[in-house]
Amino acid sequence: MSGVSRRAMLAGAAATTALLGLQPAAAAPLQAPGVYRYRLGDYRLTALYDGVWYLPIDDKFIRNAGGAEVNAALDAAFLPPSVLPISFTALLVDTGRRLVLIDTGTAGQITDTAGSLIANLAAAGVPPDRIDTILISHFHPDHIDGLKTKDGAKVFRHAEIWVPEPEWSFWMDDGNQSRASGAVLGYFRNARRIFHDIAKEVRRFRPGDEVAPGIVSVPAFGHTPGHTAFAIHSGGMSLLVMSDTVRNPYLFARHPDWQPLFDMDGPMAVAARRRMLDQAAADRMLVEAYHFPFPACGHIARTATGYELVPVEWSPL
Ligand SMILES: [Zn+2]
Repeated sequence: MSGVSRRAMLAGAAATTALLGLQPAAAAPLQAPGVYRYRLGDYRLTALYDGVWYLPIDDKFIRNAGGAEVNAALDAAFLPPSVLPISFTALLVDTGRRLVLIDTGTAGQITDTAGSLIANLAAAGVPPDRIDTILISHFHPDHIDGLKTKDGAKVFRHAEIWVPEPEWSFWMDDGNQSRASGAVLGYFRNARRIFHDIAKEVRRFRPGDEVAPGIVSVPAFGHTPGHTAFAIHSGGMSLLVMSDTVRNPYLFARHPDWQPLFDMDGPMAVAARRRMLDQAAADRMLVEAYHFPFPACGHIARTATGYELVPVEWSPL
């Protein structure tokens, strides 16, 4: 582009910006708050964006697929090769009587590009002290780190914390920790960092139990030994909160049999993923998942080879 036409284009863009009464992008580098509200029957749901982690991946990332295949799947989603975008979105459920938060974000302890959950909660008009109940899907750091600040202070001071019983018994067992290494050992240590001084307050549920009014936990073991999903029912409507059974839909809904390294039991995780995707597609259920692109909500359609996320369209109401 010549200097003249570039200047003309910039002048045109500035004129358009002035016309619309907008600030130029350079003056407002941040997005609007990552908050998306929707209704489910009588319940008001709010998707709260915590951020995204761009995880470099190599040929070994999927146990049963090669690097070229994985990069082809990223390319089909118009994503660059060898980097997996992992976004984080927690779900706030207002039942009218209680405020329930499902998973808690990263508290900025995993990557610089995530940790905005509390700011987005504030943008939604909710101080952390107003949360009554916290439901934890599993003990990976991106789901539990938000319970504490970096200095170890409780973030949700008045909330009851509910965790899956099999998740607690696996990660808090010293024998299991003594046999762990690498990243998994880090997860054991992190679970203790989060829970050691609040262990007596933490309540445990059996996956399958109703854990809050209209919220039923659903066993979805495999990603971790006690990994749990949730089904929310209100006013004749249902939402399936898939937690980490699918994660990035362009990889794992389109290729449900792929077994990434972070699924501790690959075949069991595949079975849970297929069960959940199948149910969502067959029953045309609204779904939500922690690592789907924001607002992390949509429907699941069956395709010839797998499944496809059909995201909700942003709505002003
Ligand atoms: Zn996760």
